[in-house]
Amino acid sequence: DPRIMAGKRGLIMGVANDRSIAWGIAKAAADQGAELAFTYMGEALEKRVRPLADQLGSSMVEPCDVNDDSSVDRVFSRIAETWGSLDFLVHAIAYSDKDELKGKYLDTSRDNFRRTMDISCYSFTSVAKRAAPLMKDGGSLLTLTYYGAERVMPHYNVMGVAKAALEASIRYLAVDMGDQGVRVNGLSAGPMKTLAASGIGDFRYILKWNQFNSPLRRNVTLEDVGGAGVYLLSDLSTGVTGEVHHVDCGYNIVGMKAVDAPDI
Ligand code: NAD
Repeated sequence: DPRIMAGKRGLIMGVANDRSIAWGIAKAAADQGAELAFTYMGEALEKRVRPLADQLGSSMVEPCDVNDDSSVDRVFSRIAETWGSLDFLVHAIAYSDKDELKGKYLDTSRDNFRRTMDISCYSFTSVAKRAAPLMKDGGSLLTLTYYGAERVMPHYNVMGVAKAALEASIRYLAVDMGDQGVRVNGLSAGPMKTLAASGIGDFRYILKWNQFNSPLRRNVTLEDVGGAGVYLLSDLSTGVTGEVHHVDCGYNIVGMKAVDAPDI
């Protein structure tokens, strides 16, 4: 099998439905020959995730709430028993109370600050720690981030602060795991209409703004993130670690509104 991910086994965390970024990456990885396992959060999502996993020929579909260490442990024990090793992992998990994804960052509560940081940032370190012993021949870890980590975006608030911490943790993990040949990278996706994004205030406006002002004059697709995901997870990127790779139709390089952008 000449495909770029043939013979590789990976864990995909964060599929909620067929619009999830994790699903875009899973499809692209499976197209390239990868064998996949999936985790889902909560019983309600199981009936969405199981048929999707079936489509890609995956039978390992495990519940996992990253808030609960025993649930994370269980997933990695399952992988250790079934596969004995792991080549890559996709972490596409984030959460914040949607009442705080609007208005001012200044109004963030301590409770939601903690929860947002825990689920959206610490969980990546927590899964990296458990993946490490399974990646004896090296591996690739990938998390999802957003430009709101680097610049202030309306309504992104505490999630922007959590993504900044997540991006810093990518660099620390890259150093800690580099000597065992494990690479750690982030994919900074442009805005996409997913379940998680629906909690962000004025999201439709943000989508339009990005569409009109990105160099490519469009929004990113699941195929865009899938292709870049395969690059970062596969041996195409063996010299790349600690990197945050923008897949945003170029939006992050732009300094101001495009002269030809319509009013929205
Ligand atoms: P999504 O809603 O499809 O995925 C978010 C996932 O997080 C869901 O599967 C949900 O079940 C999971 N999750 C939440 N809390 C969890 C917990 N405690 N334990 C385990 N899983 C939990 O939305 P998405 O947009 O595909 O989000 C995936 C990642 O991409 C997130 O990190 C998000 O911040 C990031 N991202 C999204 C966009 C965008 O515009 N949609 C842009 C850049 C980055």
